[in-house]
Amino acid sequence: MTISVRYYDGITAAAQVAVLSAEGDVVLLTVADKTQRYSLKKLKINPQLGHVFPTIDLPDEGYIELLQADVPAWLLPHKHQRLFWQRLWHWENKLHYIALSMLGILAFAYVLVTYGIPKMAQGVANSLPPATEQVLAQHTLKSLDYVLFQPTKVPIAKQQHIQQLFKQRLQPAAHINLVFRDSEIGANALALPNGTIVITDDLVSLAKNDNELLAVLAHELGHVQARHGLRSALSAAGLGIMVSTLTGDVESTIAAIPTVFLQLSYSRDFEREADQFAYDTMLKHDIPLHYFADILLSLASQHNANSEANDYQQTHPNVQERIQPFLKAQ
Ligand SMILES: [Zn+2]
Repeated sequence: MTISVRYYDGITAAAQVAVLSAEGDVVLLTVADKTQRYSLKKLKINPQLGHVFPTIDLPDEGYIELLQADVPAWLLPHKHQRLFWQRLWHWENKLHYIALSMLGILAFAYVLVTYGIPKMAQGVANSLPPATEQVLAQHTLKSLDYVLFQPTKVPIAKQQHIQQLFKQRLQPAAHINLVFRDSEIGANALALPNGTIVITDDLVSLAKNDNELLAVLAHELGHVQARHGLRSALSAAGLGIMVSTLTGDVESTIAAIPTVFLQLSYSRDFEREADQFAYDTMLKHDIPLHYFADILLSLASQHNANSEANDYQQTHPNVQERIQPFLKAQ
């Protein structure tokens, strides 16, 4: 019932060689011919952690490091204590328990990313002052103009016609404005934070009539209304960007958003929300619902050949499923 241990007096960093033994409920620690006595109950035994052997905290400043992985039974007087330790070692040594706790951590991270961060992003998006959102949107559009867009080739008269149509038929809020851009991404529309909706020249020519354009614009209005762009961007950029927003470091947030926006894909939930908004808006303004289905089918077939576009392709995967409610209502 004697083991060699390493003893630290808690004052100097150096370890001393010591011998540990027990007499009933009393533990004897002998260091350089001096023996100290401790009540067994007063000792705190810490399990092995990775490659660090178990340690024992003494009631004074000192502590003991064992030179072996298992704690001798005489240091663990109670049966339940022994069982606990055995189980703990068992767990620590078993790969599948380690895997299990890794899974737990991954599940936690997944929940945080899937539910926590979007929830926080929503909070941040809703609390951003309009001026900040304005700056974000201008900066985003500028960046997109640089990397993705060229000036529109849609004739002025046609642009004016669509602008008028948009205002009169959909009656968007005053801060929402529609801009035209040419782009190699093909027929597409996107809603920037602050309510700028961009439609590409290809979308204008793809639409067979005004009502099809209105259907797409109604869907984009849904994204604007629920601030999906900002929420996705904030989510995608993760905690860093949120922290910078919350701490007022708007500069770095502004710098990061356009990049994020380019890789942006809306979640299915956001698409469903925007579709529902389009549905309600079209009903409200007497636009036959099948136009939504018509334009979506055209977009889907044109994007089958083009793998780069964002809003109406990867992110709008289930076209058949999405157009069902619009067709059923006829
Ligand atoms: Zn969408």
